[in-house]
Amino acid sequence: MGKFNRYLITAALPYANGPVHIGHLAGCYLPADIYVRYLRAKKADVKFVCGTDEHGVPITIKAMKENVSPQDVVDKYHKIIGDSFAAMGISFDIFSRTSNQLHHQTSQDFFLKMYKDGLFEERESEQFFDPEKEMFLADRYIIGTCPNCGNDKAYGDQCERCGRTLSPDELINPHSALSNAPLVKKKTKHWYMPLQNYEPWLKEYIIDGHKEWKNNVYGQCKSWLDSGLQSRAMTRDSNWGIKVPLPDAEGKVLYVWFDAPIGYISATKELTEDWASYWCKEDTKLVHFIGKDNIVFHCIIFPAMLKAHGGFVVPDNVPANEFLNIEGEKVSTSRNWAVWVNDYIQDFPDQQDVLRYVLCATAPETKDNDFTWKDFQDRNNNELVAVFGNFINRALVLMHKLCGGKVPPLHEKYMEEADREMLNEFAVAKEKIETSLENYRFREALSEVMEFARKGNQYLQKCEPWILASVLEKLKAGEPNIKHPQYEGKNEEYLQARIDISLHICLQMSANLAIFSEPFLPFTAKRICHLLKVVDRMLEWDNAGSTKLLSVGYTLRAPELLFKKIEDEQVKAQVEKLHAGLKQAMDAAAAAAPAAVEVPVTPAKPEIQYDDFAKLDLRVGTILEAEKVPKADKLLKLLVDIGTEKRTVVSGIAMHFAPEDIVGKQVTLVANLAPRKMRGIESQGMILMAEDNGKLVFVNPSEAVKAGSGVS
Ligand SMILES: [Zn+2]
Repeated sequence: MGKFNRYLITAALPYANGPVHIGHLAGCYLPADIYVRYLRAKKADVKFVCGTDEHGVPITIKAMKENVSPQDVVDKYHKIIGDSFAAMGISFDIFSRTSNQLHHQTSQDFFLKMYKDGLFEERESEQFFDPEKEMFLADRYIIGTCPNCGNDKAYGDQCERCGRTLSPDELINPHSALSNAPLVKKKTKHWYMPLQNYEPWLKEYIIDGHKEWKNNVYGQCKSWLDSGLQSRAMTRDSNWGIKVPLPDAEGKVLYVWFDAPIGYISATKELTEDWASYWCKEDTKLVHFIGKDNIVFHCIIFPAMLKAHGGFVVPDNVPANEFLNIEGEKVSTSRNWAVWVNDYIQDFPDQQDVLRYVLCATAPETKDNDFTWKDFQDRNNNELVAVFGNFINRALVLMHKLCGGKVPPLHEKYMEEADREMLNEFAVAKEKIETSLENYRFREALSEVMEFARKGNQYLQKCEPWILASVLEKLKAGEPNIKHPQYEGKNEEYLQARIDISLHICLQMSANLAIFSEPFLPFTAKRICHLLKVVDRMLEWDNAGSTKLLSVGYTLRAPELLFKKIEDEQVKAQVEKLHAGLKQAMDAAAAAAPAAVEVPVTPAKPEIQYDDFAKLDLRVGTILEAEKVPKADKLLKLLVDIGTEKRTVVSGIAMHFAPEDIVGKQVTLVANLAPRKMRGIESQGMILMAEDNGKLVFVNPSEAVKAGSGVS
């Protein structure tokens, strides 16, 4: 904590044109919530702000499609999104919205201050205009072919296939998303922020000042700064958004990425009169939790705005996550390939913590990760039920059975090495969890919590109080103890003391598990408190690691199961639902597609010269061997004969071909591509594939040729 006296934690403003899915949760809301709950447990001064982002083009498009007003769209989704977060225990201090008057005022003031300080360049430029709809089109309305990857549905601001940030001028064959008409250019005036002026400061701030940022975040910032920043328009032609507060700005609104991050400030203003302490005092730690698609806006543009305006703190960290895929496929809201949070809550009522657990345990912290329903079931049944829940349940059941329902004493005289070791673990576990949380390594922190529960189970297994109890019973009845010779000659006092000690320790562990797990599993932590008959105040982090949370002789409630098994049918139903949703979306899209719209065939990539092409050494090869790469679902390792030699090639085609089916096939190989290591295997070339709507086909000669034949 050190130099900071208060925390301001933000989670990306969800866009109010649809519900949130579990990829959103895993990407930023859950990690932010875990961090904030931990800070609150430490009694830190913290504010957690969020709200819906309600401006921008997709909302107007959605409104147009549904024949309602943009306000109707945002009202609907603000509620759905807010309810989903609340149900999942995402504990914002405020969940605001950018359509609020206070936010409009705050954004306009921000803009005006920069304007008066002469920080904008006023530029007349030619912008794309839709002659049919008679309006200038914002970037999102403009669709064309991405110059980078050839996607013919790239937007004017970004290609969603390859992730490249674009400007509409870079698109090949730009046309209107509204009317499909080819666009014309018309003169219009806008206010640009010369981001290049802030480059030296940004380099000092990020490249020198925040080397501790996550690799994915730091790397992206560095590559942006290395390639040089440019002026960026901070206004747009539109009638939905925050009006540009200048007299000559009719029909112009603030760029949505100008106003949205200011939403964090407005939400804090709405939350507390003391908002300026959180935004302006240097001893505030500002942390933005976001997904990787928003890195540039939160690490470059918004900090530059804050710096330009002056008087604000800048983010201390931006722990952005990568993306979560579903069942091996990228989430796509338009194809409805997603697990919606509001659906989950309906299908798994009172099992919010299971989803929180699985999403944290598989969080895409350093690379994209995959959510599968099978893994969801396995983690619930094998970890939450069998390890965590089972431990607390056994401790309580045995205590009721063998210790009269009261916390038994810890008989110093009969304590053994294993007991002391276990007690020492309390503080060790606390420190490990703490260190991981402070460094935004939430998966690691959660696995330490589970490790503590696992150790509890092992300890209980070793102490075997149920065996001690049966020996004790025999002894009291005057019967011989034949079955358990290891306790031969032990008296009643010893046996009862050993039972007491083991359960005393397990119950103190259970209390600690409530504290440790609260940031991750808040609903479960509350239920443990209920079982242990302690107030929520026990959950304060100061108490973590203590071996004396429950007083000797204190009566505890009868056990209730904390988690229940998830059955195969439930998982099957979810997978079917996912596929049914996809089919429905595809059918609807097919039905809605305008029948006669000619999509002109255009070159997908910029023109090149023959010399560029001639640099490629393409050869026909024959696949000699093919095998799966262990622990990599998508990769096959191939041995390809190209006549003069045999090449090892790692290819991402395992989802499409069984290894045994492709041995003997001819393929086209890029033979002079620099070798690349994948999963520790050096790939010495690349195989050409044609892609048809997700289906992959080898590019090979129409009749068999000698291996090594050149292709030109
Ligand atoms: Zn692209």
